[in-house]
Amino acid sequence: MVETKKLLSVLAHPDDESFGMGGTLAYYSSIGVEVYLICATRGEVGEVEPEFFEGYSSIAELREEELRCAAKALGIKEVIFLDYRDSGMQGSADNDHPQALAFQSVNDVAAKIASIIRKIKPQVVVTFDPVGGYHHPDHIAIHDATMLAFDAASSIEFSDGEELFQPEKLYFHIFPKGFIRFMVKLLKIFAVDVNHFGRNKDIDLEMLAGDKDYPRNAVINFKKYAKMKDEASNCHASQLNFGNQAPFLVNLFRKMTSGRDSFMQAFPEVPKSLKKTDLFL
Ligand SMILES: [Zn+2]
Repeated sequence: MVETKKLLSVLAHPDDESFGMGGTLAYYSSIGVEVYLICATRGEVGEVEPEFFEGYSSIAELREEELRCAAKALGIKEVIFLDYRDSGMQGSADNDHPQALAFQSVNDVAAKIASIIRKIKPQVVVTFDPVGGYHHPDHIAIHDATMLAFDAASSIEFSDGEELFQPEKLYFHIFPKGFIRFMVKLLKIFAVDVNHFGRNKDIDLEMLAGDKDYPRNAVINFKKYAKMKDEASNCHASQLNFGNQAPFLVNLFRKMTSGRDSFMQAFPEVPKSLKKTDLFL
C-alpha cells in the first residue's frame, strides 16, 4: 500500500497561508497530497474597513470566514485553529491581552501543535523562518513552538497517552534577501517608506534586507497553480487594501514573488548548497 503524503503548514494568522506559501500549498493539494493548516489566531488585530464588516459580529468571525474561503481555493483538507488571540507588533498593547499568542509559554503552544502532529501524522511540516518572515511576534512565537513540537510529537514527555509520531522533514518558508535588497533600492527611488511597508505599515524592509540570509534548500515551482493562490488571496478582501503605497510597485512585488516559493530545510540538516524541487524528497 502506498502511504498517503501529508503536509502540515503551521502559521499564525488568516492570510499568512495565501500571502505566503499559498502557491506551494495549492501545488501539493493539486498533485494529491493531503494539505493541513494550523492557524494560531483569527487575526483579531487586523484593521478592517467598515464596508467589509457588514453581517459579521467581530473581526475574528470575518477573518475566519475569509480563511475558510482561501483554504477551499487552495485545496486544504482541514484548517485547525489554536484559538489564541492575534498580537500586535512589538510594543503594541494587544500583546498584553491574556490570550495573545506572543504572551503564551512556548511549551503550551508546542504541546498543542505536537498533539495535532500526532493525529495527522504528516511527513512534512512547514512554518515561518526564525524571524517570522518580518519580525512579527506571532510569527516568531509559531516558529519557536513548531520547532519544539516537531521533536515533542515523538516524545513521551509531551504526550497525553496519544500514539507518538515523528515527522520526517521540517522546512522554513523564506524570502531570499537578494530580492528584498533589490526591492528596497527600487522602492526608495519611488520615495516609498521602506521602514513602514505593507497594509498595516508593520514591515521594515530595510531591516529585513540587513538580516541574515537563510539557505535556499528547496524551490517549489507553482506557476501552473498560481491562479489558485490568487483566488485564495482574493478571499482575504478585508486585508487587500495597500493604501497609496505605489500600487504598481506592490503589483510588481507580487509578480516577482509569484510562481516560486523558497524554503530552508531545518531538519534533517542538509548541506547549504542543496537545492531540491520537492519537499517530500
Ligand atoms: Zn501573519
